[in-house]
Amino acid sequence: MTDLADLTRRVCAFRDERDWRQFHTLRSLIVSLNLEAAELLELTQWQTDEAIEALPRVEEGRCALADEMADVLMYLLLLAEASGVDLAEATVAKLAKNAQKYPVVRCRGRSEKYTAYAGEGSPAASTGTLEK
Ligand SMILES: [Mg+2]
Repeated sequence: MTDLADLTRRVCAFRDERDWRQFHTLRSLIVSLNLEAAELLELTQWQTDEAIEALPRVEEGRCALADEMADVLMYLLLLAEASGVDLAEATVAKLAKNAQKYPVVRCRGRSEKYTAYAGEGSPAASTGTLEK
């Protein structure tokens, strides 16, 4: 098992061995992160929902997904390192915010944005949910 800190060290070592830090401005990293996310999205272009759901079940599709997800993660790790953000800490904090935004009592089994729950009573305790 490899944790975020170890992955960050390895990605930064890869970058530094090639003297690429000089190109990694925050803008370049954000652009690159989004371009890699677009490559992940491209795997779904013109595909049916059934074909997309089947991607992880075939070797070629699973490899393509894994490659693009890894590209996204690598740029995210580089961006976090360059901006001094502790990604694990930020994720824990954001999960707590999302839990406030999406209380289980209001949104369990519902897919609407949090604004759809406005006016449905006071916030309740929550076990958390992911941002949409
Ligand atoms: Mg890629």
